[in-house]
Amino acid sequence: MTVQGLFSSRSAAAAQISARPRFAIVGRGFSGMMMAIALMKTVRLPFHMQLFDPNSSVSGGQALSSARASTILNTRVRDLSVSVGDTDDFNDWLCSNAEFRAAVPAAIPGFRQIFVPKDIFSDYVYQRFSEALSARKDITVQVCHDPVVAIRRTHGNRFLLESANPANPLFDSVILATGYGMPEIEDPARDPSPVRAQRLIARPHTVLLGSGIRVVDHLLQLRDAGYQGQITIVSRRGFLPQSHTPNSADPVFPAAALPSNLPEILRFIRNACREAEEEGRSWQSVMNGLRKHARSLWRSLPAHQKRQFNRHLRAIYDSHRNRLPEAIYARLQGELASGNTILRRGVVGRQGLSGIFFRPAGSACDEVIHAERILDCRCRGPQLNSPLLSSLQNQGLALADELSLGLAVNQRGQPCLEDGSTVGGLFAIGPLGLGSLPDIDLVPEIVSQAYAVGEHIAERFYPKSKAV
Ligand SMILES: Cc1cc2nc3c(=O)[nH]c(=O)nc-3n(C[C@H](O)[C@H](O)[C@H](O)COP(=O)(O)OP(=O)(O)OC[C@H]3O[C@@H](n4cnc5c(N)ncnc54)[C@H](O)[C@@H]3O)c2cc1C
Repeated sequence: MTVQGLFSSRSAAAAQISARPRFAIVGRGFSGMMMAIALMKTVRLPFHMQLFDPNSSVSGGQALSSARASTILNTRVRDLSVSVGDTDDFNDWLCSNAEFRAAVPAAIPGFRQIFVPKDIFSDYVYQRFSEALSARKDITVQVCHDPVVAIRRTHGNRFLLESANPANPLFDSVILATGYGMPEIEDPARDPSPVRAQRLIARPHTVLLGSGIRVVDHLLQLRDAGYQGQITIVSRRGFLPQSHTPNSADPVFPAAALPSNLPEILRFIRNACREAEEEGRSWQSVMNGLRKHARSLWRSLPAHQKRQFNRHLRAIYDSHRNRLPEAIYARLQGELASGNTILRRGVVGRQGLSGIFFRPAGSACDEVIHAERILDCRCRGPQLNSPLLSSLQNQGLALADELSLGLAVNQRGQPCLEDGSTVGGLFAIGPLGLGSLPDIDLVPEIVSQAYAVGEHIAERFYPKSKAV
């Protein structure tokens, strides 16, 4: 879905905006769209909002538009509402969608526990965005297709955004929603395929790098497209996503106080999972319960234990929190059991003409995995060295978190400086704050954070206004 022309009549009103507060949202992925919805719902008086992203799609950023949109999201409908305080909003939207109801009659009267394709969620987000926009005749919205390369703070505590357009106005508030950065543009002139591989392999062979849900997405897409070759998944730690339960795994967690160091916390969680299984509940319920404690737990750990977690446990944690719908998990297991897909644990090196260098875990020697195609499905973190994030750090407007996973932020997404202070009007939401706020890359957390930012902005500019 392109946004070209969508706001042309509104952008004509840009000349009238000088007296209104101006808000910039950088990035139009899910976090950026969610932020726009939250601003329109919470800031009840007129404002001007400008959305920057070179990606002309408003289908939800990398998570929702990457690969084939028909792949299934790994979060249940009940956790995907974009309306804070109304957890049934997505379910209600699906129930009112005749086409969807006709296609999925078995789940009537409610769809709360099911998993839906990305494109359906993307349509829902876009529709809620459009509805919020058409309900606000008093605001102006402008969509810009330039990347923002730097942000400067001006006198009067406003922000100047540098992009290809030299005529950007000064903004009162800037919300960074740049997530995993800008997708790399493929250069058709550069064929990365190892060309000699065809002569060295008996059967077509594809290597997938990574171990998260992107790998599973790519694997199943290849099979759905009829690919019958060998597939090798290469992962440093070798933990593939675990399975959801057939029914909802309502959060449970022991009431006892959590221990204060990492090895004991780990033991505590393992015991909680074992006990839950013995009592007929699931370890998934405990993981869902753990998420409610994750932020305070993370904050309480000293830096060296956070590093330890990152090195040794993050891959396991991710494989247990980013779970696959049961049917997809069963397909993955079937692939592995058949031997048509194999998982190899180790580290990849440079790509050669006939494949990729690989050092298996525990080995001191490299080998070459011959393959005609190598797909990198690893999830990159936020790009701290991108021009935009570098400019913020260089000017002292933001700092990397202690593990350099993203920017150091507080709960509301305000970048935290060395002395604990924040820069009024500046926010970094979604995965940008992953080193400070566990799980902030997931939809429910992004939704809550976007509304919290909206409330804060509403209070700052219109102290007496009330959210609808
Ligand atoms: C394959 C996949 C599946 C997922 N499935 C689920 C799921 O089922 N459930 C769940 O809860 N979560 C899921 N997630 C996670 C979650 O949805 C994402 O973390 C979330 O969508 C992040 O969105 P974002 O907008 O912050 O980042 P992104 O999607 O990375 O979007 C960032 C946008 O910012 C733009 N941008 C970057 N730099 C600039 C710049 N300098 N100037 C202007 N624009 C810029 C980019 O072009 C991009 O459009 C999934 C993630 C992935 C990758």
